Amino acid sequence: MTEKVEPQYEVIVIGAGVGGIYQIKRLLDLGVKATVLEAAPDLGGTWYWNRYPGARFDSESYTYGYSFSKELLEEWHWKEKFSGQPENLRYLNHVADKFDLRRHMQFNARVDAAHFDEGQNLWRLRLSDGRELSCRFVIMTLGLLSVPTLPRLEGMESFKGRSFHTFHWPQEPVDLAGKRVAVIGTGATGIQVIGEIADKVGELTVFQRRPNWSAPLNNSPISETEMAGIRARYDEIFAACARSPGGFEHEPDRRGFYEVTREERVALWDRLYDEPGFGIWLANFREIFTDEVANAEFSAYIAERIRRRVKDPATAEKLIPKDHGFGIQRVPMETRYFEAFNRPNVRLVDIAETPIERITETGLKTAERDYEFDIIVYATGFDAITGAFDHIDIRGTGGQALRDKWQDSCSTFLGMTIHGFPNLLMPAGPQSGSASTNYPRGIETGVDWCTEFLRHVREHGHSRFEATAEAEARWTGHVVSMYAMMLMRKAKGWFTGYNSNVPGHEHGKVRYFVYNGGAPKYVSRIETVARKGYEGIDFAPPSNLRVENAA
Ligand code: NAP
Repeated sequence: MTEKVEPQYEVIVIGAGVGGIYQIKRLLDLGVKATVLEAAPDLGGTWYWNRYPGARFDSESYTYGYSFSKELLEEWHWKEKFSGQPENLRYLNHVADKFDLRRHMQFNARVDAAHFDEGQNLWRLRLSDGRELSCRFVIMTLGLLSVPTLPRLEGMESFKGRSFHTFHWPQEPVDLAGKRVAVIGTGATGIQVIGEIADKVGELTVFQRRPNWSAPLNNSPISETEMAGIRARYDEIFAACARSPGGFEHEPDRRGFYEVTREERVALWDRLYDEPGFGIWLANFREIFTDEVANAEFSAYIAERIRRRVKDPATAEKLIPKDHGFGIQRVPMETRYFEAFNRPNVRLVDIAETPIERITETGLKTAERDYEFDIIVYATGFDAITGAFDHIDIRGTGGQALRDKWQDSCSTFLGMTIHGFPNLLMPAGPQSGSASTNYPRGIETGVDWCTEFLRHVREHGHSRFEATAEAEARWTGHVVSMYAMMLMRKAKGWFTGYNSNVPGHEHGKVRYFVYNGGAPKYVSRIETVARKGYEGIDFAPPSNLRVENAA
């Protein structure tokens, strides 16, 4: 018989972003010997990396912060309704310092491989610095949008100016004054950058392949008095988030689209357009997401708003999407975006008409002409949701690679466990409630569930757990079935797994990794599984393999 070995840690968490920070807090409270491995030089995940001008929440700040600590809620003052990256990173550092989490995190610790050792029921991790670590359970908080993707264009290395993906925007200030700047990409990121830098650069050229529907963020500062009011309402605010499908304060209008008159619909839209945040998307009529006619009427309304804001009619038409309706892709929120195109130093290049042929030493060449730039900004998106998993060589039972299992789509149980990959948890994995909600609300739900699950595992002395094939097939079937109702299935964006820059993901075939049932339904489903003793998950017989609790 093989001698049993003790793993070095009971739990290793991979990733020190919003999810990893909260996960390690909960594990330490449980008395688990755990550590966090983070590839970056410091904590923060999304908010560590994305330092591009204009990077900010489009969730209301006070619905984005953690809800688990009253003391934290009492002491933190959000300065803006939609807080910017520097403040967001300060917040996450404050949380880590307040709860003394930093000493349980290892930075510059990139995990290259994670292999399940079936003989020992533990995970063996290999890091890029050559270290090998073992743990009984691994928790992946890798981020949904943490693998940036660059276009596959000829000549990119030859450019003599500065160029970077927005995710890798330099930490030191970039001098934009008087510079000729190109931005490639008009997703939520490009739209934030363009609105922010248009009046700070010499010339700005925007390369747009497909326009995106977008609406005003309507940001504003939060005064001391307003913050006091928010603090007094925190219970109410988080209760509203828990009630809403998207984990926001915005709840869908309960009236039927066809039950009200056109005038009443327009009155709602006029109000929502001027309100802060995602209300225009999420507090709208529910039919916007499911009914082509309703969606087309609303899209035409937004198109009119764009025409009113952009002076040149030809430019306005180019900025109005024609291939999809409003809200079936993730809606970027904008600040002065459309007005940017009224400035004499800003021009829009439609690369659907005149594709980029190559990057040159001095700029880029389209099918029409050469452009010269000092800086090229790639706002070209992410290998979303499964990308970060694909970047680690994750192997489960029988040496099966996760990237092979998920090659065409993905399958999970509850978005948090995977058949064939025992002892692995993902509080915000594909098919979990997180991707389609206000992330931290979904993350807290997932982390709380995973933590309580581990409490159960420890209390019963289990050394192994694994979702059954049947449970996984049922859950994945449930996730897939909901796409049938959603117009979103027709979209060509990261929600459906499309990315022209990732081989295999450019075909536009839907990859089912977003849970479309809404937060309340998701929570009810995962709580039912827990209440039934984690039905759908197999446990090995109790053993003595438990690691001693951390002191
Ligand atoms: P994205 O939505 O995927 O947009 C990428 C953009 O780059 C699209 O316009 C795309 O055009 C274009 N593009 C990609 N490859 C290209 C190529 N080879 N040539 C030309 N154009 C190319 O990525 P993102 O803007 O970074 O946003 C991703 C997500 O991050 C958002 O949806 C959101 O969830 C999150 N985000 C959140 C915030 C926030 O909370 N405040 C801010 C920014 C981002 P096509 O449309 O034609 O593919």
